[in-house]
Amino acid sequence: MFNLNDYPLPFRETELEPYMSAETIKFHYGKHLATYIANLNKLIADTKYANMDLREMIINSVGDTNAEKIFNNAAQIFNHEFFFNCMGRGNNAVPDIISDAFGGVTEFKEKFKTIANGVFGSGWVWLTHDAAKGFEIIATKNADTPIAHGIKPILTLDLWEHAYYLDFQNRRADFIETFLESLIDWKFVISNMNI
Ligand code: MN
Repeated sequence: MFNLNDYPLPFRETELEPYMSAETIKFHYGKHLATYIANLNKLIADTKYANMDLREMIINSVGDTNAEKIFNNAAQIFNHEFFFNCMGRGNNAVPDIISDAFGGVTEFKEKFKTIANGVFGSGWVWLTHDAAKGFEIIATKNADTPIAHGIKPILTLDLWEHAYYLDFQNRRADFIETFLESLIDWKFVISNMNI
């Protein structure tokens, strides 16, 4: 059984204001993530997935048309925990190791914005790292997640409407900009790199 308490927020609900409202966090974490967890618990009961951890479940269900709902809910739980952990306050300088890989801070941000703004419909934008390919910025659709494809995520931004609509309505580009400038906890991102 998965439980929302196993995925605690790394900040207080009000801590990201004025960049992300407590109202957004309340719905995004307390309703959307909670629903993915409740759905997954129902879907995996009495199946081969019941005793797997989240990562195993994602890797085993990707591409299996009979397990599409399990994949979607499991991947969304992983993606949301990762996303919430990417955010905080006060660690907003892009680390050299990342900006250097893109030719500078401005270049990194521009590339991230271009790819994020190019996502049509629901999805995610990711900074990933691979020993051979180095850092890359990629987008995934719906619940899809890099770990389903053996790719290591470093940073992610949720681009589903529920992630920003209360604060930004139709202004998704402003949400992307605000995330880059004021919401990323680079300390977490670096600690997660493990490279
Ligand atoms: Mn979301």
